[in-house]
Parts: sequence; C-alpha cells; structure tokens
Amino acid sequence: MNSLAKNLYNPYFSHIYIEKDAKNHPKTREILAQFPGAQNIDINHYKDVFNRGHQNYALQKVTPNLILAIKKPPYVYEGAPVCQDFGNQHFYYSSSVMNCFYDCEYCYLQGMYPSANLVIFVNLEDIFHEAENLLKSYPVYLCISYDTDLLALENRLGYVKEWHGFAGSHPDLTIELRTKSANFHVLNHLKPINNFILAWTLTPDSIQKTYEHHTPALNVRLECIKKAITKGYTVRLCFDP
Ligand code: SF4
Repeated sequence: MNSLAKNLYNPYFSHIYIEKDAKNHPKTREILAQFPGAQNIDINHYKDVFNRGHQNYALQKVTPNLILAIKKPPYVYEGAPVCQDFGNQHFYYSSSVMNCFYDCEYCYLQGMYPSANLVIFVNLEDIFHEAENLLKSYPVYLCISYDTDLLALENRLGYVKEWHGFAGSHPDLTIELRTKSANFHVLNHLKPINNFILAWTLTPDSIQKTYEHHTPALNVRLECIKKAITKGYTVRLCFDP
C-alpha cells in the first residue's frame, strides 16, 4: 500500500472499544490515558466486535483498533505437543493480548482470529492467580507472548514489567517472553533473573524486508540481543518462519 493510500486511514488505535466489565479496571484507565485523542466506544462483550462476521483482516491490519476486555477462564492453557516445550513437563501458555502490533505476512494469527484488532485483557491479576494455583502442584514453564508481542507493546501496556515482577517472587515459575522487538530500554530497567527467558525470533534480512511490516531489522534485533546478554539476561534464539 502506498503512502497516499495509507493517509486515507485513521491512525493506529484511533478507536478503543471498552467492554462494560472492563470499564472500571485500573489498567483500562491507565491505557485510555495514553490515547487521549481516541474515540472510546462502550460495548457489551469483546466478542461482539472481535468475532463479528465479514471483517477484512488485511485491511484492519493497516490501522488496527484496540478492544479492552476482561479475560474469563481458562486463564492459562496447556502447551500443544507441536510447540517447543524445551523439556519442561508442565508447559503452559497464557494469552493476555490477542493479535500483534507487527504485521508479518506469514503470521498464523490471521488464520486464527476473525479480526486484526488487538484485544487486551486488563485483568492480568487473574492470570497470575491461576499460575499460582498451578505452582502449588509443580514447577511451571509459561510462555506469555505467543499470540502477540508483549515487548513491542510494553510502552503502552507494561505487562512485561508486571510478569517480570511476578516471576521474581515465584522461583518455580519459568517465563518465556517471545519477541521480535528491540525495545531494550524496557529490559535495561529490569534486573535479569534466571527464570525470565527472552526468546528472540530472528528472520533473515530478505524475509524481514519482504514479508514483515513494522518489525525491527535483523541487525537491530541482534544489537538488542547483544545488549541483553551483556546485561545478564538468559536469551534464546528462534528462527522463523
Ligand atoms: S511478530 Fe509474530 S505474532 Fe507478531 S505479526 Fe509477526 S509472526 Fe505474528
């Protein structure tokens, strides 16, 4: 899409849909404060907007909107056998955000969701609570950034910091934060801990330039990884697609 055509669209997150149950949550207020120019629209349930028929995922992806909602159980999911469990017996993932700030043409999310708008579940405390319940029985390996990229959203959302704090007080929990972001500023302000693994997905330049939109270039990701390792983080490299 050329820049003239892009100018015909609203800016990113120009409209924010707010589920009635999420309206008074502190995280909702925190997020809304960051988008003072957005048009806020009250809705009954996030699925009324997110799941409606005849949406054009590709067009929505050009300038997605936000949907703030309350997550209902289950709060964490067992990892699928086809996903990498790295030898962890109790492997789970959580989905605090549905959809991604980035736009990779090979992304599986476009086949999974009916809408490209981002759903943010504001009640992270309920996901923490369920993780604590699991931890009463066994150590848990939890991937927190599968259906999104939390580090890319961190400046608006703050979930990486909250998960990092939670991992710090729960040594039997190992977190994997998967990302393509180069948002080292956030990581630089956190203390590396053994049970908080940063997993960077790397793509060759030719793929990144052709099939990814808004993601940092390979050399920028590598520079961020180098800084993270130097700071003392445990880093894993993943290769996509
Ligand atoms: S970074 Fe990952 S989740 Fe985000 S659009 Fe690309 S492939 Fe999808």
